[in-house]
Amino acid sequence: MDRALDCGSRGYKFESCWAHMNFSTPIENIKYIGEKQAKKLKRIKINTLGDLLFYFPEHYEDFSQITKIRNLKLNENAVLKGKITEINESRSFKKKMSILTLLLSDDSASVEVIFFNQSFLKQNFQKGEEIIIAGKLRFKGTSVYFSPTVYEKTNKEELTHLREIMPVYKETRGLSSKYIRFLLKPLVDSFKNKLPETLPEEVIRENNLMSFKEAFEQIHFPKTMESAQRAKERFVFEQLFLISLFSLKKKYEMKNEKAQKMEIKEDVLERLESSLPYKLTTAQKRVIKEILKDLNIPHPMNRLIQGDVGSGKTVVAGSVALNAIRNKTQVVIMAPTEILAKQHFKTIFDMLKKFRVNVGLLTGKEDKYYSYKLKNETIEISREKLLKKCMEGEIDVLIGTQALIVKKEKDKKPKVLFKNLGLVVIDEQHRFGVKQRKQLCLENNDKVPHLLSMTATPIPRSLALTIWGDLDLSIIDKMPKGRKEVKTSIILPIEREKTYHFIEKELIKGNQCFVICPRIEEDESSTLELKNVKDEYEKLKEMFPDFKIEMLHGKMKIKEKDEIMKNFKKKKFQILVSTSVIEVGIDIPDATVILIEGADRFGLSQLHQFRGRVGRSDKQSYCFLSTDLNNRKTIERLKAMEKYSSGFKLSEIDLKLRGPGDFLGVKQWGFSDYIMDALKDIKMVEKAKEAAKKILPRIREYPSTSKRLESFEDKVHIE
Ligand code: ADP
Ligand code: MG
Repeated sequence: MDRALDCGSRGYKFESCWAHMNFSTPIENIKYIGEKQAKKLKRIKINTLGDLLFYFPEHYEDFSQITKIRNLKLNENAVLKGKITEINESRSFKKKMSILTLLLSDDSASVEVIFFNQSFLKQNFQKGEEIIIAGKLRFKGTSVYFSPTVYEKTNKEELTHLREIMPVYKETRGLSSKYIRFLLKPLVDSFKNKLPETLPEEVIRENNLMSFKEAFEQIHFPKTMESAQRAKERFVFEQLFLISLFSLKKKYEMKNEKAQKMEIKEDVLERLESSLPYKLTTAQKRVIKEILKDLNIPHPMNRLIQGDVGSGKTVVAGSVALNAIRNKTQVVIMAPTEILAKQHFKTIFDMLKKFRVNVGLLTGKEDKYYSYKLKNETIEISREKLLKKCMEGEIDVLIGTQALIVKKEKDKKPKVLFKNLGLVVIDEQHRFGVKQRKQLCLENNDKVPHLLSMTATPIPRSLALTIWGDLDLSIIDKMPKGRKEVKTSIILPIEREKTYHFIEKELIKGNQCFVICPRIEEDESSTLELKNVKDEYEKLKEMFPDFKIEMLHGKMKIKEKDEIMKNFKKKKFQILVSTSVIEVGIDIPDATVILIEGADRFGLSQLHQFRGRVGRSDKQSYCFLSTDLNNRKTIERLKAMEKYSSGFKLSEIDLKLRGPGDFLGVKQWGFSDYIMDALKDIKMVEKAKEAAKKILPRIREYPSTSKRLESFEDKVHIE
């Protein structure tokens, strides 16, 4: 490694040999990268010259203060600058170590610098040479010596390693930060003047950003900590800008498509509202209005309703569906699971039957197809017949699972097609693109249906502006009246018994209980998880001999899971032990307790989702968060659950504490740590979004920005 360092000084003269290279040059064609190193670099995803140039430091070390040898303190990091006045080599007999000793002197004093087992370094040093060296003063036997970490000779124009601010790159086995620094120094020097600016001039000016050239140099080899920070900011801003451009572009493209313009049928909507057994909340009314306004435009809507579990999203969907039907179009509602599809089928049918609406249900797994007719009765018909009715426009609302669109190559089943599909509603299923929507329409239909997505997962504002930036948002921020807040408390191991007693009392009252097993990282439906559930199940069986217990886990078939949920709802058993696979959205009105084991392993948003399984009636419900980690950080985080009942609030806290990695849809973008971090900074996100809005209409004027956007689009595979 140190021989490599020595080459570094020669490396500066090789500028010309990089001149012909472009970013896609394979890493093995770069000087000083042999086959072995290439392999290691590839392991950390550095495959090309471009990857290497943009492999940014993980952090920096500040060596700007040089310590006089006389002022050295024991065991404190220090940087020395001095002349080598003696070089000695010896061997320790006891441990069979080689010992290389340099006597280093500055104008204050001298100190012995000792390298153990690195005798090969001897040839690197010469008496009288000046070096800079970092390390610590240590105590050995009866004397002190300086134990070095990095050193560098000062006889060059610019230092690579012991600069005042030293970049530290993430290391991996056999690949040191030092080596990466050594590779990068000449490359950065050579490329910094050849790379074009990628941000429009006005964006740089208005946001007070560093130029590309400067930032590129300063991020690798900064002059000061501040300039390193500014350089980082520039690149982060650029990424946020690109993400915003990407989602805005998608949004504008969608607005260019044609869709059915729907009149707002006030009278029928009023009749529907007054037929409901409850009053709509102001939030529900506002959201319905926002949607109707979108539908009134001849371009496809792409709107997401966010509302906590139980905030009443279904009735909003039902209302706008009726409006679509009165505009002579059909509606499809897609749910993530069989059981939810059935629940929606019943709800929507009950809601719309007075309006003489035909509702159909199509689920793939069971191969059973129903269609409700006008007279309140359920008629079972074949899939063939149902599809025919759909195609002929006789079915107004078709409700189903993914089976509605998933088109398998082998699957010989005919596709679901509509005569005039006007609105697609997707419950708890995020990405659904124009292509998929078009798949549902007859071929001669040049219109795209409007899209309404619904989710109970709150999306923090910074994510809503960036990765979900192609969607318009409607937020249901009020719960229906009379809902009781779920009482939440953290349970430490010593309080366990008390908690079980409490649960027992609830069960005796005739209520039910969920127990959620801890998450096992990276291993959603694993055997380990299965074991976990089984162990918990056995334990609870012993603990509650008078009650019936069932379990639910990822290895079960959908049909089995559905069966269990149905039986739980019918109160055939009292405790359900489950992994985190537990279904979203199913109402178990008598479930009043949820006990979440290993609560510290879940994000707050997910805990909040679990908590939403209870408190779905007027009964007081309870959520217990069990953790063995009695440390301040964990407890503080979990305390947020005790304090806040709003999913939005919790999601913002989650974002700050854990970063955006846990949020739906974030992982598939494959962001770097830099960007993950940047997504926490709402101010910068807002600025980048504003800049993107301004530039997108004129992006052709900026060819290198355009190019970056194109390559960004190639990398992100999001429908
Ligand atoms: P989610 O938003 O989780 O999908 P649902 O649409 O399933 O919520 O509604 C949850 C429950 O709240 C349902 O039983 C529904 O009938 C009821 N509900 C919806 N809106 C209101 C309201 N404004 N007042 C009272 N109850 C309501
Ligand atoms: Mg729902």
